[in-house]
Amino acid sequence: MQNSTDNPSSRNYDVVVGGGSVAGLAFAAEASKRGLGVLVLEEDKEIGEPEKCDGLVSLQELRRYAMPEKSCIQSRVIKGVVFSPSGRKASLDASHLDVVVIDRSAFDKQLAGNAEAWGAEVRLGARVTGVEERPDGVKVSAGGDVFSCSYYVDATGPTGVMKFNRDGLVPTAKYEVEGDWFTDGVVEVYTDQEKYPGFFAWVIPRGPGIAKVGAAGFGINAAKALEAFLAERDSKIVSKVACTIYVGGPIEQFVSGRTVYVGESAGQVKPTTAGGIPSSVAGGVIAARWVSDSVMLKDPSLVLRYQPDWSGRYGKEYRLMTRLRHIYENLSNSDLDKLVATLERPKVAAKLASGSFDFHASAALSALGVKGLLQLAGVLVSSEAKQALSSLVRPSGSKES
Ligand SMILES: Cc1cc2nc3c(=O)[nH]c(=O)nc-3n(C[C@H](O)[C@H](O)[C@H](O)COP(=O)(O)OP(=O)(O)OC[C@H]3O[C@@H](n4cnc5c(N)ncnc54)[C@H](O)[C@@H]3O)c2cc1C
Repeated sequence: MQNSTDNPSSRNYDVVVGGGSVAGLAFAAEASKRGLGVLVLEEDKEIGEPEKCDGLVSLQELRRYAMPEKSCIQSRVIKGVVFSPSGRKASLDASHLDVVVIDRSAFDKQLAGNAEAWGAEVRLGARVTGVEERPDGVKVSAGGDVFSCSYYVDATGPTGVMKFNRDGLVPTAKYEVEGDWFTDGVVEVYTDQEKYPGFFAWVIPRGPGIAKVGAAGFGINAAKALEAFLAERDSKIVSKVACTIYVGGPIEQFVSGRTVYVGESAGQVKPTTAGGIPSSVAGGVIAARWVSDSVMLKDPSLVLRYQPDWSGRYGKEYRLMTRLRHIYENLSNSDLDKLVATLERPKVAAKLASGSFDFHASAALSALGVKGLLQLAGVLVSSEAKQALSSLVRPSGSKES
């Protein structure tokens, strides 16, 4: 790995990647493996630092694209507990969902090492400041350097997606805390539309006595919301990060001219929970396959196959997650109490326990079933959420009775 000042140059590459995190590094490894000359430009001075993500992930999906080394795994999750605003709780058995907490910084470093082992160059402290598309290629500027390439891959995360959908970004605060009020292996989610509008607060233990704790919500001061949450729980704060999460869904076009968007900059993040590690890694790997074919076979049309390929796996689920998000944003606190009561039902909980963490929208609908969904819609206060929920079980175009 080089520092941007070590070796200023203007070399030619097949691809320059802006952003050295999971999506950009997964792209770099796969494209280098397929024989492309790849340069990754990362603005931070160290891969994986500062660590913004909590690393809650199911290996069921991630192992298809990049399996974290054992040393990256901090904890195994056996249970999830969802709290309603009035303190009702639903416990969900996660022991069969292969959910773990990973050290994101270590995982990013693993991916960087992998990309370099295949021949990619990774430059640190190198911020992309300009991308100029020309008929014969792209010029990418970073500080005083200009790099020529056939394709520019935008893997800049929130910075990239902000250009397309600012409204999908939610203010977030994430602290690491020490305490004895949580249990290793048990992830907690706290819903409350007044405290965390459209989102929630969470506790993800990463070992005995230490947890990643966060709060996010539209239009709130997330740090204040998290401080209030922690004020009720005896905690020693170890570190603090203020950031944003993205829930706006995939952008319209993953490829624009010679620029290819991967990971969060393409909106490849769950619209429900903002979890984006597997789908962003997948975005990087799938894009790399088509960009490589496009360069090797000198056929620019091939790169356009990346979007349908990614969408073939995630598109339907993400559209469903977007609809569930819309419903969630319209729920009142008393609706949330009813929702949590529904999740408590043994039949629903049992079905969720054998569902999928990554495709949880489909899993939730199948667990509730048509009857359960209509029953839930019947007791909700919010008429918009009621209608939206009922529409999930009615074929489009059918009339309400
Ligand atoms: C608080 C929080 C908690 C989260 N928890 C989870 C979780 O538990 N599980 C999960 O699956 N997902 C989680 N996510 C989401 C997950 O972190 C993202 O979906 C994932 O990191 C997206 O990867 P990426 O490579 O696309 O972008 P990012 O990880 O955002 O990386 C973008 C990279 O680009 C660099 N960059 C930006 N601009 C430039 C530039 N101009 N030039 C050069 N480099 C640049 C940045 O420094 C960064 O390294 C969480 C996110 C947050 C904010």
